Amino acid sequence: MQNRRTDNKHDRPCRGKKDGMNSAFGSGHFFKKQFGQNFLSDDALLADIVADADLSPDDAVLEIGPGAGALTRHLAKAAKKVVAYEIDTDLKRLLSQNLADCPNAEVVFKDFMRATDEEITEKLGNDYAVVANLPYYITAPVITLFIEKVQRGARIKSLTLTLQKEVADRLVAKEGTADYGAITVALASVAEIALTRTIDRSLFYPVPNVDSAVVTIRFKGNRLNVADYSSFREITRCAFAQRRKTLSNNVMSYFKTDRTTAENWLSENGIDGSVRGETLSPQQFATLANNLYKLKRN
Ligand code: SAM
Repeated sequence: MQNRRTDNKHDRPCRGKKDGMNSAFGSGHFFKKQFGQNFLSDDALLADIVADADLSPDDAVLEIGPGAGALTRHLAKAAKKVVAYEIDTDLKRLLSQNLADCPNAEVVFKDFMRATDEEITEKLGNDYAVVANLPYYITAPVITLFIEKVQRGARIKSLTLTLQKEVADRLVAKEGTADYGAITVALASVAEIALTRTIDRSLFYPVPNVDSAVVTIRFKGNRLNVADYSSFREITRCAFAQRRKTLSNNVMSYFKTDRTTAENWLSENGIDGSVRGETLSPQQFATLANNLYKLKRN
């Protein structure tokens, strides 16, 4: 869905020149591949991404990797407060220029993966939204980190992420498809996910080798009534351990049990052991996980 929206109903508090930006291109900034630096500057697209996030003027927003601050400026107009973590200290000057007229945007120069729950909560409260054009090398760790925070009871509102199209396809995949995997199931346990738009690679600088997409992940709490997330992760790991094997075979090797026990256990939970793990719905994973947890406690 390529839905361009150019109007921006929010007009505060970043004002100044029309785009207010000094581009990283031409600023002398040396783009660092190891930090996944592919910047966006198309204002219409950035406004669309912020619209996807569905922010309200009272929202607190966490951004991961502001780069030159193009998305940060749009976020600062739409939300009450933005805290952006940037690993590359070479971007200090450019970011302070580009965010000079955004008093509600704060940049923390630090590896986001080292930020603690406490420091984020201190800056943003408990119910913040995350918006990021993610560096490719930390896409899966960042998503997993937020899933686990929510599974531990954190009240994060949503993630609006620009990421590789092939990763986006995996996040929104339906059971029975090759893209469906452990991360799809983990996300489905706590959130509703939608792919809102695809982004042609030519809109990034430097131009990456792949196209991108925007996904919105809206957290909905424990929507599958999982009794114990550690058992849920265990059964998911088991089912996807060897994708070509049947579920019974994966249960046998993962739990070191015999065929009859594995097949009986699956069938007692309404599941045919001759299917592959990738055919199970998130709800079926929850059923198996809850039963596994019950068995562990007995
Ligand atoms: N938001 C900008 C945009 O859309 O143009 C830049 C996005 S660029 C894909 C990713 C940004 O994340 C870069 O600025 C990079 O330096 C930063 N980054 C990479 N790894 C990071 C990390 N571990 N913690 C914080 N920022 C990181």
